[in-house]
Amino acid sequence: MKAALDIKDLTVNYGGIPAISNISAEIPFEQVTAIIGPNGSGKTTLIKAVLELLPRQKGIVKVMGQPFARVRNHVAYVPQKEEVDWHYPLLVWEAVAMGRLKPGNILRALGSNDVEIVEESLAKMGLTAIANRPIGQLSGGQKQRVFLARALARRADLYLLDEPFNGVDATTEKIIMEYIQALRKQGKTIIIVHHKLNEVYSSFDLTLLLNRELIAFGPTLEVFKNGFIQEAYREKLEQNSEERVEKGEKCLAY
Ligand code: ADP
Repeated sequence: MKAALDIKDLTVNYGGIPAISNISAEIPFEQVTAIIGPNGSGKTTLIKAVLELLPRQKGIVKVMGQPFARVRNHVAYVPQKEEVDWHYPLLVWEAVAMGRLKPGNILRALGSNDVEIVEESLAKMGLTAIANRPIGQLSGGQKQRVFLARALARRADLYLLDEPFNGVDATTEKIIMEYIQALRKQGKTIIIVHHKLNEVYSSFDLTLLLNRELIAFGPTLEVFKNGFIQEAYREKLEQNSEERVEKGEKCLAY
């Protein structure tokens, strides 16, 4: 088995309009890969299509060499925290315990091993003291940590995280970085949608750069040094510099 994710010619439409077109990439095992691209470039769509949360118009995706449905128990997904109904009456530990549910057998009672794993996951994410708090009462950083704890509890091989650093405090940011490093040491495969380019540059093995189509994919330093970033973000850069000119500020070099 060559790739953790093998994406071939993937196209996803919303209402007949393509959000991503003809994406192909083989994301290897045991690496930390960033998915980057301007707002609306299709990063979340790509992750959701891989996880079969969205229909594909075209293309084939293999997850760990198999169709996703066959390996879903080995995959942990952390969606953007805005995607969840936080008013749902669930306690922190219950949300984390959901990581132990296996699709197809969700009514199985938690065993003592599950309880231990849930407690350990809560502790690792600094949530033990608030384990009995309703999820609706949490701060942005705490919400993000609940998702991460749930993913940890899953004991997966492949982790897909969608913008985990978005709207979190400095403490949570540090916890997430440590979380990623710990998973990396265990030989897990981690794929993260990220919007802070400087952090991707300094700490990610591989980068997939998207702007509705694949712009570049490979070792992070290569992707950053060949003008691909400027190409993908051109519209945004032009927009920013126009705004600066309007405000009488100095223009960026590009
Ligand atoms: P990113 O994650 O890079 O910000 P998205 O994958 O969220 O980009 O969105 C890609 C494009 O698809 C955007 O133009 C967005 O407006 C559009 N889009 C996303 N979700 C939907 C939806 N549910 N219905 C219609 N269009 C959508």
